[in-house]
Amino acid sequence: MELTDLSAKEIAHGYRAKTFSAVDVAHAHLTRTDKENPKLNAYLEVFDDVLEHAKEADTVLATKGSAAHTLTGVPIAVKDNILIKGKRASAASKMLENHVATYDATAISKLKAAGALFLGRTNMDEFAMGSSTEHSAFGVTRNPHDLTRVPGGSSGGSAAAVAAHLAPVALGSETCGSIRQPASLCGLVGLKPTYGAVSRSGLIAMGSSLDQIGSFSRNVADTELIFETVRGHDALDGTTLPTDGQKKVANKKIGVPRDFVKDADPRVQESFEKSLAALSKNGYEIVDITFPSAPYALAAYYIVMPAEVSTNLARFDGMRYGLSYEGKNLREEYDVARARGFGPETKRRIILGAHVLSSGYYDAYYRRATALRGVIAEDLRKAFESVSYIATPTTPGAAFKIGEKSDPLSMYLEDVFAAPANLTGIPAISVPSAKVLRDGTELPVGIQFMSPKRTESSLFAIARDLLGETV
Ligand code: GLN
Repeated sequence: MELTDLSAKEIAHGYRAKTFSAVDVAHAHLTRTDKENPKLNAYLEVFDDVLEHAKEADTVLATKGSAAHTLTGVPIAVKDNILIKGKRASAASKMLENHVATYDATAISKLKAAGALFLGRTNMDEFAMGSSTEHSAFGVTRNPHDLTRVPGGSSGGSAAAVAAHLAPVALGSETCGSIRQPASLCGLVGLKPTYGAVSRSGLIAMGSSLDQIGSFSRNVADTELIFETVRGHDALDGTTLPTDGQKKVANKKIGVPRDFVKDADPRVQESFEKSLAALSKNGYEIVDITFPSAPYALAAYYIVMPAEVSTNLARFDGMRYGLSYEGKNLREEYDVARARGFGPETKRRIILGAHVLSSGYYDAYYRRATALRGVIAEDLRKAFESVSYIATPTTPGAAFKIGEKSDPLSMYLEDVFAAPANLTGIPAISVPSAKVLRDGTELPVGIQFMSPKRTESSLFAIARDLLGETV
C-alpha cells in the first residue's frame, strides 16, 4: 500500500496514529505527480509551497492538546476556477492566464480552517464550458484509464488527479454535470450538492443560477467529509441556504424513468441494471416512474446557461481583470482583448446567450426555457411524492476518444442526464457502476442518484450501500 492509495480519512487517521507524517504524504503525492502529470495534464500548476505547509501541519499535529483539525495536512486538489488567495486562478482561459486571486473562495476558507493542504490547481474546460476538458486553453487532460480518451469535463483535471492518485480528493464545480460526468468517466464518486448548500463566493461564475461547488473522491466517506467541511450559509452568497435543515429521505424506493434512460448506450444500460439489481438485493425497491419533461431539460439548459454566461463573462472587458490590449479606442480595446482572451466554445456561448436574451428572441427562447425549468421541478416534486431517489446512468456512454466529439451538439448530449438536477437545484451523486468494454478497453461508468433538496446524507447512504462501504 502506497501513501497515494490512501483516502483523505485514512490519511487523517494515519497522522493521529503517527504512522506517517504530512511531509511523507505530501512528498508521495508530489513525486507521483512529477511522474504522471506530464502524461495526464491533470494539474495546470502544482503549488511550490506544499512541503512548507506540510511541515507546518506536522508541527500542529505534534503539538500536545493539539489544535489539529479534521483535515490538518490532508492534501486536496482544486479546480482552476475556485479562488485561493495569492494563487493564480485562470479558469483555463487565456483571459485569466496570469490572474492572481485576491481573496479565498468561501469553500477554500472553510478548507483552510479545517487544515487542508492545497496541492495545486487542476485543468478544466475554459470557464467550465465543456464535457471533455478539451476546451482548456492549456491543453487537454487525459483519462488515466486510457490515455487516448477524455476524462470528461469540465472538471476533468480534478477527476484525472484523483483517479490517478495524484490527490486523494479534489474540488470541482458543476453547472450541468461537470463533476458527475467526469466522476463517471474516471470511476470516482462525484457529488453535486443542493443549490445553495455550498457558497459560490469565489467560484468564477458561469451560470449563477446553476453553479455549485462539489467534490471528487475514491469513496463515499471522503465525499461526505469534504461536503460537511465546505457547506453552510454564507453572508457573501445571498443564495446560500441556512446551515441547519439537512433532511433524510423517507424510504428506500428508487424511481427509474425508463423512457429517459433508454437512449443510453446499451452497455451503459446493462451496467446500470446490474447496479439496480445489487441495490434491490440490498433492500431497495425499484419502481418505474414517468418524468415527462426530462427530455427537454437539456434544451432548457442550453438556453438558460448561455444567457447567464453572456452576462457573467461581460466583466472580462480587458480592463478590470486579466488580458488587456491597448488599442486606438475603447471599442478596439474590448474587441481585441475578448477576441484574444476567449476560446471558440466560450465565444459561441456568449453569442448564443446574447441572442436568446435579445429583444424579439427573449420570449421565444429565454422565457420559455425558464418556464420549462418550472415544469421540470414540478415533475420531480410529483415523482418524489412516491419515491425517495431517482436513478439514471450518469452519462450516455463511457469515456470517448480525444477529438471524437468535435461537433458541439454531440458534446452537449453528454449532459442529458445531468441537466434536471442543475436546473431544479436538487442534489445528485455519481457512483461507480460496473465497468463497460469499449474498443477492447474496460472503462468505468457511473450510476446517478438524485434526491430532494437537502438530502445529501441519504445520497451518501445509497452510495455506500451500492459500493458496500461501511460508515
Ligand atoms: N457539459 C456542461 C457544459 O458544457 C458542463 C457545465 C458545467 O457543469 N460546468 O455546459
